[in-house]
Amino acid sequence: MLYIGAHLSASKGFLDMGKTAVEIGANTFQFFTRNPRGGAAKPIDKADVEAYLKFATEHHFGKILAHAPYTLNAAAKEDSIWDFALQTMADDLKRMEFVPNNYYNFHPGSHVGQGIDVGIEKIVKLLNKILKPEQTTTVLLETMAGKGSEVGSKFEELRRIIDGVNLSDKMGVCLDTCHVYDAGYDILNHLEDVLEQFDKIIGLNRLKTLHINDTKNPYESHKDRHEKIGQGFLGTKAFEQIIHHPVLSKLPMFLETPNEIEGYADEIKLIKSM
Ligand code: FE
Ligand code: FE
Ligand code: ZN
Repeated sequence: MLYIGAHLSASKGFLDMGKTAVEIGANTFQFFTRNPRGGAAKPIDKADVEAYLKFATEHHFGKILAHAPYTLNAAAKEDSIWDFALQTMADDLKRMEFVPNNYYNFHPGSHVGQGIDVGIEKIVKLLNKILKPEQTTTVLLETMAGKGSEVGSKFEELRRIIDGVNLSDKMGVCLDTCHVYDAGYDILNHLEDVLEQFDKIIGLNRLKTLHINDTKNPYESHKDRHEKIGQGFLGTKAFEQIIHHPVLSKLPMFLETPNEIEGYADEIKLIKSM
């Protein structure tokens, strides 16, 4: 069973996202937990959640993926910014329990000149404050392109974060194809080697979801600009390999390509035709 979805606008609620997903040929979706710039979240509409859960069961949905606002910085230098990340993520995780057993992805953070060690320390500290033994949500670290002072463009860094977390069974990784290629993992020409590295350093059992994006920039560019599937430096071949890979093909995949809803529908068709 292929689980594929796209990043959808969360403005109309869960049921509406579920319906949009079905319309574009998807059986899962990703959404921002709140305005990507980090404003207040809409109150949870219990009737909407209930209707969605029923709809998702009927349509055999896979796990859905919530994405934290990308402006949060769990490695921030300033206490007020770090605190804001903590409050926001803690609130997001509380809300995620209304749609239990799904995934919550975040960009680990930027160390903004404090150095990688301090960055990792702060991210770990934040996670240790917000993770709860009773939560059903798995929190995912996204693999990053290594733009600026981003933490998490190397598998070793993700491993160090997971190692520092007390409730590490609540932690996993979301692999973004654009980001890892930009970061210097050649998933186009050496996919098996990259996965072997991932397995050795982090463990493939931690790999929970994929962001499938082509990239506007060449290998190791550390840029992070997504391109439509097949139209960037990764090209169709990279995604064919992923779709046919015994491990990767079983993971929920989410498009974050520069598309409107019709474009996503076309890309889902393209992926399925592979
Ligand atoms: Fe992301
Ligand atoms: Fe991503
Ligand atoms: Zn990106």
